[in-house]
Amino acid sequence: MMKRKIILRRGREESLLRFHPWVFSGAIARIDGDVAEGDIVEVVSASGITIGYGHYQVGSIAVRMLSFEESEPGRKLWIERLHEAYLLREKAGVIREDNNAYRLVHGEGDMLPGLIVDIYDRIAVIQAHSAGMFMAREEIAVALKELYAEKLDAVYDKSSSTAPFKASLELMDKYLLGKGKGEEVVSENGLLFSVDWIHGQKTGFFLDQRDNRSLLGSYSAGKRVLNLFCYTGGFSIYALTNGAVSVDSVDSSSKAMSMLEKNIELNRRAGKITDEAEHKSITADAIEFLKNSSDNEYDLMIVDPPAFAKHRGALQNALRAYQRLNAAAISRISHGGIIFTYSCSQVVDKTAFAEAVFSAAASTGRKVRILHRLTQPADHPVNIYHPEGEYLKGLVLYVE
Ligand code: SAH
Repeated sequence: MMKRKIILRRGREESLLRFHPWVFSGAIARIDGDVAEGDIVEVVSASGITIGYGHYQVGSIAVRMLSFEESEPGRKLWIERLHEAYLLREKAGVIREDNNAYRLVHGEGDMLPGLIVDIYDRIAVIQAHSAGMFMAREEIAVALKELYAEKLDAVYDKSSSTAPFKASLELMDKYLLGKGKGEEVVSENGLLFSVDWIHGQKTGFFLDQRDNRSLLGSYSAGKRVLNLFCYTGGFSIYALTNGAVSVDSVDSSSKAMSMLEKNIELNRRAGKITDEAEHKSITADAIEFLKNSSDNEYDLMIVDPPAFAKHRGALQNALRAYQRLNAAAISRISHGGIIFTYSCSQVVDKTAFAEAVFSAAASTGRKVRILHRLTQPADHPVNIYHPEGEYLKGLVLYVE
């Protein structure tokens, strides 16, 4: 069989030589051999030099690089990369007895473009965002088992909503290895959360807010807290266990709400939440709820909406939506109140988000200061040559 090769146009290897992990379709001069979606291809410069190997896919990102070496990576690539990813999280202090939920693989940030692996104690949940990773999922599951051995019970593939359907893959979420109960109680910084990876959003839990939840905890004592877009109550639990007077949690998903109630109960039973702390679960549209709330009702707000812009075309509308939402929060918070506000839209960069929040503040006429600029935690690393990997942005505002 003829070797599968992608030959680049002259000069188009530049960004790859700086380890940017994508080859855009416009950079390709020629394809040699019978190349199908998901295949591992050799990427070669116009002058015939091997740049490395990656997964091929039809679309504007044609190749996602897996290695920048001369020889073709074999199956051992998976275990090597997973092992590196594990060591990194150990070094960063993310893997601990009291913290057994973490992201093991964050795509490009771990030189495994298109792959997400989240660990919930003894369960690994995989999401493939590329045809290549989807097709390699069985091999990846085997490598995960090799890495964790008896510490891993099951590997669940949840790629049906993330893998590209253009690749005409048979998408069905299922266990690739072992079997789990579908729900597991994990410990995040010593707090307990029930995670449902089958019915929950994304892989079941928003691991990317871990550090930000801790910070929220340190602001919570004595506060009346409003957690908007609360999902299963990550921020609410940290507020309640850190002395908040009351917490109102709002989400439009009733399923998320019942998980939240369960999480409160788990932490109450473990003695982490005292009976004095008041909590209200509110299944509602967060924006409507905020509009109907009165001024000075809350001292601390969390505003963590879903991605308003999923692609570049939606950017302007998204920025206006962030502006309106933040203006509503800023105008209603008590004097001396604090707002934790976020955007997880990858196409909204931190400058654009800060500008949206700035114009929101200006429209209220209130004096606002930025106390913290937040991002994603160490188990969501950003490849410095691939700044697109930084997607979570947050600001902590002090509103006079
Ligand atoms: N802060 C959460 C994650 C938020 S994810 C955590 O720490 O776990 C975004 C949440 O917004 C999802 O739970 C989704 O159900 C909810 N959501 C989406 N649109 C909404 C709306 N209009 N009103 C209220 N909640 C909404």
